[in-house]
Amino acid sequence: MARVSVVGGGVAGLAAAGRAARAGHRVELYDAGSYADQRRGAWGEVVADFDRIPLDETADGVVRSLEEIAVRIPTAGGTRRVATLCTPDAVVIDRGRLERGWRRALPESVAVYENHRVDKAEFDRLCARSELVIDASGPAPVSAPVAGLTVPPAPAIKTLSARATGDFASHYPTPTAIVAPDARLFVTTKDTAARRSG
Ligand SMILES: Cc1cc2nc3c(=O)[nH]c(=O)nc-3n(C[C@H](O)[C@H](O)[C@H](O)COP(=O)(O)OP(=O)(O)OC[C@H]3O[C@@H](n4cnc5c(N)ncnc54)[C@H](O)[C@@H]3O)c2cc1C
Repeated sequence: MARVSVVGGGVAGLAAAGRAARAGHRVELYDAGSYADQRRGAWGEVVADFDRIPLDETADGVVRSLEEIAVRIPTAGGTRRVATLCTPDAVVIDRGRLERGWRRALPESVAVYENHRVDKAEFDRLCARSELVIDASGPAPVSAPVAGLTVPPAPAIKTLSARATGDFASHYPTPTAIVAPDARLFVTTKDTAARRSG
């Protein structure tokens, strides 16, 4: 049995912690935030390939599944639909709720430390006493300055995701992705698209 330390308890950290625990390892999970009600607020997000997440679609926080997403590009007058993505495995999630439920579903053997930000010194200590340390601390990984990695800071994420509460069905009546030359592909809401074209 190995001692596994997971830094960061978002989707990546939760998946890693659950998998390592089910493989029989002793797991400690550290997250800078808490899994209380207000975790991340209520974001509606689209996960394009939900089958890669080790949860099923009945999990708390899965709002609904999607069959397709329209891809639009910006034009002078607004946006133009250029393609349709068939997304048989896509779902809309409330990520805060999904992570809360996922944390509850972790094997009891996982020791979860909430409101616990791991700094460089502690990361070094975890490395010294663990057989495996998994850095799942997100876009500015805590290990980057520690291990001398060359992970560049992630570019600011521009997103058009909806900030919404409740059932996101009303915010994603027609899920739409907008592709801009300086951007990745973002899923937006009908409301946001309307504002852009207006
Ligand atoms: C506003 C917004 C909207 C988005 N919309 C979408 C979308 O619609 N569809 C989509 O697919 N993706 C979307 N994304 C991207 C998606 O959220 C990320 O790809 C995903 O969260 C990455 O998961 P992760 O577990 O790697 O990192 P994160 O979700 O960033 O989790 C990292 C965790 O580590 C913790 N942490 C950080 N530093 C430390 C530390 N030093 N010590 C301890 N804990 C630490 C944080 O508290 C956090 O819980 C969006 C992102 C944002 C910001």
